[in-house]
Amino acid sequence: MPTAIEFFKLLPKTNCKDCGQPTCLAFAMLLANQKAKIDDCPHVSQSSKNALAESAAPPVRAVTVGKGKDVTMGGETVLYRHERRFINPIAYAVTVSDKTDVPERIAEIRKLTFERVGTVFSVDLISIRCDSGDAGTFGKAIDSSLRSWDGPFVLECPESILKEVIDTAAPRKPLLYCATSDNIAGMCDIAKKHSCPLALRDADPEKLAELVEKAWASGVTDIVLDMGAANLKECIERQTIARRSSVKKKFKQFGYPLMNRVGHGEYAVAMAAMSTMKYGSLVIFDDLKNYEALPLFTLRQNIYTDPQVPIQVKQGLYPIGDPDGHSPIFFTTNFSLTYFTVRADIERSKVPVWLQIVDTEGLSVLTAYSAGKFSAEHVVKSMEESGVLSRSDGVVVIPGLVARMSAKLNDLIRRRTIVGTSESRDIPKFLKNLK
Ligand code: SF4
Repeated sequence: MPTAIEFFKLLPKTNCKDCGQPTCLAFAMLLANQKAKIDDCPHVSQSSKNALAESAAPPVRAVTVGKGKDVTMGGETVLYRHERRFINPIAYAVTVSDKTDVPERIAEIRKLTFERVGTVFSVDLISIRCDSGDAGTFGKAIDSSLRSWDGPFVLECPESILKEVIDTAAPRKPLLYCATSDNIAGMCDIAKKHSCPLALRDADPEKLAELVEKAWASGVTDIVLDMGAANLKECIERQTIARRSSVKKKFKQFGYPLMNRVGHGEYAVAMAAMSTMKYGSLVIFDDLKNYEALPLFTLRQNIYTDPQVPIQVKQGLYPIGDPDGHSPIFFTTNFSLTYFTVRADIERSKVPVWLQIVDTEGLSVLTAYSAGKFSAEHVVKSMEESGVLSRSDGVVVIPGLVARMSAKLNDLIRRRTIVGTSESRDIPKFLKNLK
């Protein structure tokens, strides 16, 4: 990714402000931080645009699988998330064998759905695999899958069978798995003809790079790389080599999303966790249980959040359990994890409560208080905006961690206040005893 100065050199430098920025340099800084698009400046010459497009292309190409409902992998620009952020979360796929009852299997996969801090997670792709060795059976499994699954998918089968089923599957743009040194020419022909992304597989990095060059020569550019890692050591070594080579050395042959087939069971989950942290873009499981999926989704959510932007909810008034004109009023910050924890603990109490969320730019209670973003004045302002004090004459409960704001808050709202718990988990007991 070019620096702000490199972008600046290609801009007209007239400071005309048509892009909404005061100067070309300010616009260049936004471009470098990926917060603006070059097209936002109407005066850039085509030659500059071409030069920028070339140098601004992410070192790991973004590859999209699926049509309609799709998933994009890669597009990464850095080695470490604190340098900027990771872009497209690793995708998790679960296998649907053509020897199983396909609708039943897909129904099982759909059940792997969880909600965490306001985001719903589920399996991203299915991988339809030919275990029968028979094109007719595989074709029926594809038909059945397409009726039950509207998301993106992978097709895993030998080239000879792929040729017979590709017409049915191609409109949904599946990832074709996979081309090796034995079938690279034929697989590239199919991928090119049907505009489908293609997975290339070789455990030897040099041979894998040669496969990429052959794919390029055939006109295939939407590529996913399987480096054939069989254990954790190979997984981290090979994927680190690939990411480092593409980002630091501009070695384009490895500038593609990386994938792994990991099997099933605890070792598979460990491999998937490794891939989630170190440069994987797709993991295919033979099978995945709910107790395995939840920690993986949680890990992925943490790795792929922008480290510069805390996850937050909107400031506002959140009624919990049908509160009335006498219900207690709680308040806390808009840091997502705080909000969902407090909310869940209030719900556990079964006591109706008004929960006022104060915008602290996503900071947690003590951090926001220390930074001066969660003062009594901030709390009162948010309460005035939501009108909660006129909707309920109930007691206002101050988070225990910021008990010291109680005198000031009392003065400002002239309402009975009480200091609540320091730990959210103690809220149900607190509410039960609240008179
Ligand atoms: Fe500079 Fe283009 Fe923005 Fe005008 S519109 S200030 S030329 S970047």
